[in-house]
Amino acid sequence: MSRNPKLPILDDHFHLDPRGEGTQAVKAFQRAGGTHLIIVHKPYQETPPRTEKEHEDAMRTTLRMAREADEATDVTVHTAVGPHPAELTTNLQAGLTLDEAKEAYRNGLEVARRLIMDHEAIALGEIGRPHYEVPEEVWDASNMLFLEALEIAADADTTAILHTETATPETMETWAGWADEAGLSRQRVVNHFSPPIVDEDKNHGLTPSILASKDSLREALEEGDRFLMETDYMDDPERPGAVLGPKLVPRRTLQFHEAQALSEDAWARIHIQTPQEAYGIDTNT
Ligand SMILES: [Zn+2]
Repeated sequence: MSRNPKLPILDDHFHLDPRGEGTQAVKAFQRAGGTHLIIVHKPYQETPPRTEKEHEDAMRTTLRMAREADEATDVTVHTAVGPHPAELTTNLQAGLTLDEAKEAYRNGLEVARRLIMDHEAIALGEIGRPHYEVPEEVWDASNMLFLEALEIAADADTTAILHTETATPETMETWAGWADEAGLSRQRVVNHFSPPIVDEDKNHGLTPSILASKDSLREALEEGDRFLMETDYMDDPERPGAVLGPKLVPRRTLQFHEAQALSEDAWARIHIQTPQEAYGIDTNT
């Protein structure tokens, strides 16, 4: 496959793990034709951070890995930090009360807000709510923290990356309403792991980030081209192949383009205009 040198390729949701491939995975992404990455923070330890200091140490691990990859490759690496929604339930399992777990989560939001205000990261994420079933009181607390996170994103003038249960047009309408309430522009709410819901009547102006599988991409392109592409690469040595590999966004982009299933305009919409609208980043540089 030949690289189209004219246009950039962004993987919108990519994790690095201190025990994983790290920079090597970013090199593989580059060799496949990738040019830009959003590295998203994830929990690295079984017991999630609780104090601000613990959150800051964890998030600085992400910032460090992202900087190392940026320096060691030609890929431009951006970073998102935030307490993962699963941290609330893992802290409960570890014995915290709901109030303590909420406090621990809020500490994470506060540290993320500061790092974003200091321009160390460009987005808040992933935030949202568990994708699995939880007791009603935990669900209510998750929704409250979800809304608080959107308010913090608005306050920090940044983008929120959502981790949630599989989105539907109904839930997207709800989250769009929450974004309005928080004062966060809808396009700055990126729906990670989104089904191919690209029609704006259905996603209500949120920015869908769609898995780079063949079927998802094909379905997405039937509805339009205002979306982002992602692998959700986990870099987890204990779960190799649990998700898509690091090369898939560039591979799929080039493959669809060569098969004339992705025009240059659509390519630019996915990898230049939509990242600009969602994150304020310029992937032409
Ligand atoms: Zn993720």
